[in-house]
Amino acid sequence: MNYQNILQEIEEEIQPLYKKGQIANYIPALAKINPKQFAMSIKLLDGTTYNIGNTNTKFSIQSISKVFTFTLALELYGRKLYKRVGHEPSGDPFNSLVQLEYENGIPRNPFINAGAIVTTDTLLSKYKDKSFDNILDFIRIAANDSTISFDKEVYNSELEHGFMNLALINMMKSYKNINNEISDVIQTYFKQCSIEMNTEQLANSILFLANHGINPLTNEILINEAKAKRINSLMLTCGHYDASGDFAYKVGLPGKSGVGGGIVAIVPNKMSICVYSPNLNKQGNSLIGTKALELFTSKTGLSIF
Ligand code: GLN
Repeated sequence: MNYQNILQEIEEEIQPLYKKGQIANYIPALAKINPKQFAMSIKLLDGTTYNIGNTNTKFSIQSISKVFTFTLALELYGRKLYKRVGHEPSGDPFNSLVQLEYENGIPRNPFINAGAIVTTDTLLSKYKDKSFDNILDFIRIAANDSTISFDKEVYNSELEHGFMNLALINMMKSYKNINNEISDVIQTYFKQCSIEMNTEQLANSILFLANHGINPLTNEILINEAKAKRINSLMLTCGHYDASGDFAYKVGLPGKSGVGGGIVAIVPNKMSICVYSPNLNKQGNSLIGTKALELFTSKTGLSIF
């Protein structure tokens, strides 16, 4: 299969879509990013890489970070974690408050904001003030890249404007589903969201999920096979919030989006993919990114179905 040609076709076919969608302007530091950007990287298990577009541009990984924190928490707590965060799709927006109240402060899954905040809280209980360092180290090991860091401006911007996330964490604290100080948990959560990477770094960092929990390039075991299966299942059913069904229907791969405009996806036993384009659809997922992945699986036949 000529992946480079396929990437070129995709880049041409997404051109008319630049007019559509909207940048994540509820985070002021993200609002000023040039929306007319596209990058896509494919990483095969043997390390072969295919790139197209601005693949050197680093962007805020935002909710893609939830995959790594969930992996760390699942490793630490196993199924005990599910007492505090479920594994069902929410069918609601990523920052929704209503469902959380109906369900007594237990978030539906670890990929909506409330669920990711609880997940981060569980990491704080273990790693205390070293929690963010542990998250960042894990991502650096997964990507085999010690240069990965976070963007202070994006971090401060969310800290100043993240009112919905503060509402979520306060509600969960009142339901006794947050064990650490609200300020410590929310700071760690915003920091993990502001980690920046380019599409190739992100494709590297997620490759272990295409290979049963082991990074095939470093042989590093990041999680066992049974748990890697759970993470992929959750990416398929919950990775795109209330558009998870639409993503599964159109793309047919486990994937996770972030409001920074990135999406990661994996083809089991074959490859990881990362696509970046900042304009988002109504559910907060990269509009062009979703289309690019749909074109990719349609052209290659490489969906899991
Ligand atoms: N940091 C973002 C927020 O909490 C993450 C949301 C996302 O990427 N969907 O709102």
